[in-house]
Amino acid sequence: MNTASIERPSKHRNAGYAIERYCPRCEEYWPADEEFFHPRPGGRLDSWCRACSNEYRRQHRQTKH
Ligand SMILES: [Zn+2]
Repeated sequence: MNTASIERPSKHRNAGYAIERYCPRCEEYWPADEEFFHPRPGGRLDSWCRACSNEYRRQHRQTKH
């Protein structure tokens, strides 16, 4: 099968008033802006929402410490 033309599944949906972005960690859609997702270099947004990112970082810090 030729998969070259098939793009990765969309992580966004159009909520009407705004584009929402899917967070695979909490399996929720959030508005795709920097208020809900940490900005990444290059103008992209983090794949996890801020809440999940923060939680992960907190846990990661604990394990590491
Ligand atoms: Zn999340």
